[in-house]
Amino acid sequence: MSIRDYKHFIGGRYVDGVGTDSIERVSPANGQTVARYARGTTGDIDLAIEAARTAFDEGPWPRMSGMDRANILHAWADRLRENKDRLVRIEVEEVGKPIRFARGDIDGAIGLIRYAASLALQMSGSAYTNLGENKTAMIMREPAGVVALITPWNFPALIVAQKAPFALAAGCTVVLKPAEFTSGSAFEMAALAFEAGVPAGVFNVVSGQGAAIGDHLTSHPGIDFVSFTGSTRTGHRVVSNTGRNLVKSSVELGGKSANIVFEDADLDAAIDGALMGVFFNNGECCISGSRLFVQSSIADEFVKKVVDRSSRVKVGDPFDEATDVGALIDDQHLAKVAAFVKSGIDEGAELVLGGGIAAGTGGHFHEATIFDRVDPRMTIFREEIFGPVLSVTRFDSVADAIRLANDTIYGLANYVWSRNINTVMTVAKQLRSGLVQANTVIDGAPQLPLAGVKGSGFGYEMGQAGFEEFTQLKTLLIHTG
Ligand code: ADP
Repeated sequence: MSIRDYKHFIGGRYVDGVGTDSIERVSPANGQTVARYARGTTGDIDLAIEAARTAFDEGPWPRMSGMDRANILHAWADRLRENKDRLVRIEVEEVGKPIRFARGDIDGAIGLIRYAASLALQMSGSAYTNLGENKTAMIMREPAGVVALITPWNFPALIVAQKAPFALAAGCTVVLKPAEFTSGSAFEMAALAFEAGVPAGVFNVVSGQGAAIGDHLTSHPGIDFVSFTGSTRTGHRVVSNTGRNLVKSSVELGGKSANIVFEDADLDAAIDGALMGVFFNNGECCISGSRLFVQSSIADEFVKKVVDRSSRVKVGDPFDEATDVGALIDDQHLAKVAAFVKSGIDEGAELVLGGGIAAGTGGHFHEATIFDRVDPRMTIFREEIFGPVLSVTRFDSVADAIRLANDTIYGLANYVWSRNINTVMTVAKQLRSGLVQANTVIDGAPQLPLAGVKGSGFGYEMGQAGFEEFTQLKTLLIHTG
């Protein structure tokens, strides 16, 4: 197997960085080296920002018509489609996620780019003509400028696509810092964008350790806006850096979503939703439904069925079409997940499935694991585990379900299962999260914005609102005559 070697992508080409070191990526499923990424330095960040600044201040991208930008974005989406097999392979090798999900990620990325292209056509402001005979005002929508995008390791292509095409559609230029474990997809996507006609310097990628270059990027005076997706801990740092410079940011952080099942739900669908909620993408998903709340009247039977179905979840080789849960991102993360499981046992939750590190082929696999009778004081109820570990809590009333769901520092997503629209609406209105889905989980479309509240961050991603994050309004008031 050939090892992919990535240098920084700056000014429309792969360049030797200031630093000469690289980061080696081994497949989390089998320990083989699959890629090397340049280990960026603060000097590399400076070079990338300089390229993006020149492209913004002097280049054609922010100045061309929305139609021209849209056509290039569509050409980029075509490139992704043509290269889909390669992009899928990179996702599976670098993340360890099951191939079925990796295909969905690339399809999702293509859809996001096409949607962003449609927004490039629609970018507009407004005008006031009621200010008196001699006055007219235009509210002009302009690109935000040079933007820093920082992405996590769990959806390397999809989260780049939640940010970069929207920034590009608005006319911004980009410096992207992907996660140090999974940088390949970001490089591939930027190179494909360049091939599709995105001019040199508009879309730059610098790989490297977040701890070594992240602060430099987010506190750099050459950056006009930062869009970050990652942990709540790092989000705090990003926001304090941007805040110091009075730079706007959008931060999409951790979650601890509730998946609430009422007795009047379509229970077969809700069982599917319970499994999808926790096992999708190995549980390494910020909107995973890791807390399952089941109404007491149906709990014994429902939990038994969820456990039975989950016992057939196939953990293993992510390239196997039948695999449901692949390898976790690395050994440290696997140890962290195992420590959460131990805390569940020690704190008195009832382990009803799994609980162990799964025997794999030298990779980092964890068994599908379920705890029943989880109490809100327990660590596994409170902390984001980011692995295939479900906690079940029983509830009696609608009010109980809402109280339990909101009993978290996070506020990203929540899910409700009921055939009664009144129940759905009552619960949805009282849940404190940016996203609520009823009778479905981890669903979505490019038009729908994602946003966190509380410890899950602020700002919008995707949708019209996500696009507008990358824009700035300028009010022009003209006095004539
Ligand atoms: P995780 O714990 O899931 O790896 P992180 O928040 O550490 O989440 O990582 C998300 C992204 O943030 C990665 O690209 C990482 O390199 C980057 N990152 C890490 N530390 C910093 C920092 N101090 N400033 C900016 N980005 C950072």
